[in-house]
Amino acid sequence: MPYKNLMDLHVHTDNSFDGKHSAIFLCETAMEQGLRAVAFTDHVEMDFYRQNQFDRTAKQSFFEVVKARSAFRGQLIVCAGVELGEPTYNLEEAENLVQRYSYDVVVGSIHNLRGKEDFYCLRKDRLPGGEIRAMLCAYFDEMLLLARWGKCDVLAHLTYPLRYIVGEHGFAPDTAHYAEQIDAILEAAVKNRLALEINTSGLRQSLGKTVPEESIVRRFHELGGRYVTVGSDAHYAHDLGAGLAAGMDMALRCGFTHVTLYQGREPVQVEIC
Ligand SMILES: [Zn+2]
Ligand SMILES: [Zn+2]
Repeated sequence: MPYKNLMDLHVHTDNSFDGKHSAIFLCETAMEQGLRAVAFTDHVEMDFYRQNQFDRTAKQSFFEVVKARSAFRGQLIVCAGVELGEPTYNLEEAENLVQRYSYDVVVGSIHNLRGKEDFYCLRKDRLPGGEIRAMLCAYFDEMLLLARWGKCDVLAHLTYPLRYIVGEHGFAPDTAHYAEQIDAILEAAVKNRLALEINTSGLRQSLGKTVPEESIVRRFHELGGRYVTVGSDAHYAHDLGAGLAAGMDMALRCGFTHVTLYQGREPVQVEIC
C-alpha cells in the first residue's frame, strides 16, 4: 500500500563507525524517495563511551544533523536523534548525554551483554544450544532494565540477537521460552510511554523478518502500547527507507492506526493512512 507519511526513524550517518554517508546526502536521498521525515540516530555505545571517543562523535553527529535540519527546513522533517547503546551499563554518563543535547529522539538498544562482544560478532561454532538459551535470557533481562530505566523514547530492535543467531547462523530457538520476559519488557514500555520500534533491517538480511517480529508488535498493542516507530536502520543511502511500507502494513495489521514521530522528545502521532 502506498503511504504518504513514510518516516524513517532509525538512520545512521558517517558519524556512526559503521555508517557511510553524510546527513546532507541522506536528506537528499530521503527527498528523492518522497519520505516525510528522517531521524538520524548515530551510535553512542555507553559501555565504550570514553575509551572509544563516543563523546566526540555524539557532538559531531548532533551538530551535523542540526545543520542538515536547517538546510532542509520546510521540505523534510529532520529529527536529531541518537542510538544509545547499553545506557544501563553506564547510567550516569547516559543520563548526562541525553540532557546535554536537545535531541528529538533517543533510541535505546542493547547490542552486547556486559563485558562481551556485540552479538554481531557471534561465531556459530561457539553457540551450542544451552548457551543460546542463557544468552537470550540475559539479553531480555538487559532489555527489561532498559525499558524500566525509561529515559529513552524508543526501544530499538527488540530481539536483536536473533538477527545473528537465526539469520546468520541458522539456529531456531523457540521464542515461546522467553514470552514472560518479553511481556515484562513490553509492559514496562507501556508504563513508561516508550515506543516499540519495528526495525525493518531484518527484511533485507538473511533473517527475512522485522526485528522484532509481528507477534511481538501485536502483543505490544494488546498490552496497551500506543507508540510504534518504523526504522530501516540504514547505514548506507541505498538502504534509507527500506521496508518502511512493509513496517507500516504490519503496524496496521497489529491494530495501530498511527506511527510515532518525535520532536523535542515528545511523541507526535501521525496517521498511517
Ligand atoms: Zn542498533
Ligand atoms: Zn542502528
